[in-house]
Amino acid sequence: MVGSGLAGLSLARELADLGADGVVVLEAGPDRGHAHKERLTRDESLRLWHTEDPDFHRNWSSERPPHYVHSSGLRRRLGGRSLYWHGVCLPIEEHVLRSGVWPQELAAELLGERLAGGSLYTEVAAQLAGWAEAPMGHCRSARERWLLARLRELGYPVEPTPQAARSERVPGREIRQVPFTPLTHWRGPMPQPLRYPVLSDCPVTHLRTGSGGLVEVTIERADWSSEVLLAEHVVLAAGTFENTRLVGRALAETHGQNFWEFDNLTDHVNQGFLAAVPRSAMPLPTEPGRAFCFTPVHDTCRSYLFFDVLESPRPDTVLMCVWTMGEQASTESRVRVERVSPGGQWELRVQPTISPADDRVVERQAGQLAEVAERVFGVARSAYSLRKEDFREGSPLFLPQLEAALEHDPAVSGGAVFPYVYPLGSVDHEAGTLALGGDAVAEDGTVRVMPRVSVLGPAVFPRQGAANPSLTTLALAKWYARRLGNR
Ligand SMILES: Cc1cc2nc3c(=O)[nH]c(=O)nc-3n(C[C@H](O)[C@H](O)[C@H](O)COP(=O)(O)OP(=O)(O)OC[C@H]3O[C@@H](n4cnc5c(N)ncnc54)[C@H](O)[C@@H]3O)c2cc1C
Repeated sequence: MVGSGLAGLSLARELADLGADGVVVLEAGPDRGHAHKERLTRDESLRLWHTEDPDFHRNWSSERPPHYVHSSGLRRRLGGRSLYWHGVCLPIEEHVLRSGVWPQELAAELLGERLAGGSLYTEVAAQLAGWAEAPMGHCRSARERWLLARLRELGYPVEPTPQAARSERVPGREIRQVPFTPLTHWRGPMPQPLRYPVLSDCPVTHLRTGSGGLVEVTIERADWSSEVLLAEHVVLAAGTFENTRLVGRALAETHGQNFWEFDNLTDHVNQGFLAAVPRSAMPLPTEPGRAFCFTPVHDTCRSYLFFDVLESPRPDTVLMCVWTMGEQASTESRVRVERVSPGGQWELRVQPTISPADDRVVERQAGQLAEVAERVFGVARSAYSLRKEDFREGSPLFLPQLEAALEHDPAVSGGAVFPYVYPLGSVDHEAGTLALGGDAVAEDGTVRVMPRVSVLGPAVFPRQGAANPSLTTLALAKWYARRLGNR
């Protein structure tokens, strides 16, 4: 297994359940412990995510900043982004799975048409609920109950956002919702912790089919030492771009070229606003507790709508973040993997495209947000200042708007909203370059020119819809394990 993030460690666990032997996980980064970022204070966690992470590593460049130059990137350490994610677990929309681009057999298993016990999604959800000791999507607090009632009264069909997270008392601090990480299987709760070795500081740089058909896996460390391991089967679970770089290099070398290109790179279209309103206008209960709800995909803007209550420094202020997240319509964004020096580095360049269809999603989302600002927070539509060009230009960004919202005192200046956009490549949902059943990867996840190499993670989604990717990544880990376990 290459990569110890959400995909790699989850597949290792599934293989252990099937009794597979000889699994080794190779991780590029160091072991900095198993604690999720949500075990830090809110400020520390936000800073780690956005500005101060020693393990943040963007292994690509963008031909179109501000897209693909913000906070998305590898968290190059044991556990990868499973120590950073927010745990939101939504299945890909049924119409997307049925649209003919997902392999039919897999789509049927995701939707539960082939499995006696339900769908792959429900199996994963049941496991996560077992870990959290509560079903995903249960109501988490009195605040959340109040918010759901208020929004339903206003006509929004909201539900608690399903999260793979559980309440944990963070030492010396308040109770937090801490998301699941598959690193947990290395300390329990299985009958005994998983024994498969996870080797940190082992960056894999190259894969090649060697003698006897085994895969030669080259590890090159920062001190220039290197070694080659032989494997019967390799699963690439190193994040979308790193998986693409390794497969791109293998494809280019097989065809005697210095570069390889992939299309179908997609991300989510994501924008929202922060609202600061007087508690008198929105009497949310004051006792702490998570309040985070969502409405299902909206037909016209192909987007989910989320409402999340944040902590305000002022007791008389309610601070909320509201955002929409939609499917990127364009599949024309490309990735080029290229050798930059003879015998040396292979780099990855992202060539993002925003199509007129994406512009329409952006425009409709902005309309929906302006309506929410008015109906829920009483801020006139005309005061909602986001233009459709703002998404293309990638401004205003989330962090400065959060600061402005935190400083705003509605008791003095009245309720206000602070809109922001996330340019493409900012929410860590990059996907699609190595689509199942596409040119590079077969329907069963194996690389066509290297059938002993498989790829796992959002890179293999033929189409990702509007849903966050990880529930599907976890479901695919189950599906792969059953196939690999049979070999
Ligand atoms: C702040 C944040 C919040 C998020 N919230 C959500 C959410 O609520 N819901 C959701 O569905 N998704 C969420 N995501 C996205 C989710 O975390 C990713 O989609 C998911 O982690 C991808 O899994 P992965 O295993 O493919 O990649 P990763 O988890 O990134 O793991 C890849 C691993 O491979 C290692 N690696 C990379 N290159 C090499 C190499 N050459 N050799 C060896 N090892 C290598 C990396 O160091 C890393 O440990 C969030 C992400 C972030 C950052």
